[in-house]
Amino acid sequence: MPRGFRGGEKHARAIESLIARDGDCCWYCRGQFVPGKRTRTIDHVIPLAAGGRSRLDNLRLACTRCNHAKGALTGEAYAVSRGLAIRQRLVAKEQRRILGAVLPKTAYHHPRIEWFGEGRWACRSCHVSSLAGRWSPATVPCQPPSRWLPLTAWVRVDT
Ligand SMILES: [Zn+2]
Ligand SMILES: [Zn+2]
Repeated sequence: MPRGFRGGEKHARAIESLIARDGDCCWYCRGQFVPGKRTRTIDHVIPLAAGGRSRLDNLRLACTRCNHAKGALTGEAYAVSRGLAIRQRLVAKEQRRILGAVLPKTAYHHPRIEWFGEGRWACRSCHVSSLAGRWSPATVPCQPPSRWLPLTAWVRVDT
């Protein structure tokens, strides 16, 4: 627990206020807090060591990794750092993948996919959709079964 937040109740109230103000994600990398994956910490924009206060206007929610990476920097210095820019890209990609909106390179490509939010999708070409219990379009080929095999597999010429 950071200095200035020894009272558990005060700590919980501060977190509540910060979530209401900034959303339930890391202020720096924008990663959402997920139990066991990304943990909330309270970050001091101006570190306590540099005279920062434990007041709401000097506080932000940060994931443990950002809080650690920030170190003794002020929040403003870390916010424009190259390390954070790289991390933001990784986190954004990871979050899109969680939502099922990014297909890995090996994915079967559905050219006419529609997203309905919360991971629900349907492909207008092959009519496969998340209704069939498919979690991600990356796990099903787009074309109808008769077209999965290359044409040469169907034309067998016996000589
Ligand atoms: Zn973060
Ligand atoms: Zn398709």
